[in-house]
Amino acid sequence: MAKCQECQKNEVYIHFGEDRLCLDCFNEIMANELGVEAESYPEGVTLRDGKGEVHHFRLRKRLDPMGIVMEAEEQASGGYHFQVFGDLHGDQGELFLQLISKAERGMAEMYVEARKFSNGQSSLSMKKDRMAGRIEWNPLDEDVPVLVVDGKSYAWKEIGKMLMSYEGFQVKLEMVDPSEEVRWSEREEKD
Ligand SMILES: [Zn+2]
Repeated sequence: MAKCQECQKNEVYIHFGEDRLCLDCFNEIMANELGVEAESYPEGVTLRDGKGEVHHFRLRKRLDPMGIVMEAEEQASGGYHFQVFGDLHGDQGELFLQLISKAERGMAEMYVEARKFSNGQSSLSMKKDRMAGRIEWNPLDEDVPVLVVDGKSYAWKEIGKMLMSYEGFQVKLEMVDPSEEVRWSEREEKD
């Protein structure tokens, strides 16, 4: 991993003009420019998903002229990733709490159900006829992305297979900015 050009210590996080900087050095420059300090926050958190499974997150805070970005990225690659965006002069402790509750809400519903059959075969299906996730670059095939759902990466073909049982149905596809929240319209819960 490339080292920060400023401190020669931490790994590179961002390209800033000609420089490649770590998050700390980047925030220091921003703090001088913007007159806002990045207050301290935990390095990481551990949260449970809707199934009770444990997920370890790395936390980051970035000062930006537009505001403060806080991210929780799961340490396991291709896992959950949550982001919140707050006012530059807002309450940073509150922003941290917003991030944690967003992550908890984002992990509450599990969308994919894996079934194993007695003959050893398995299949994936959508638990409640709906799915939300994150679009990620696919290192194995540059033409199609992978979708990260329930903190796991699914190949485009696997997603397609899950849709096979809905032949003839309509589908709604909506892109949601990382700083916003996936919301479902109210409707009766299905059994
Ligand atoms: Zn640095």
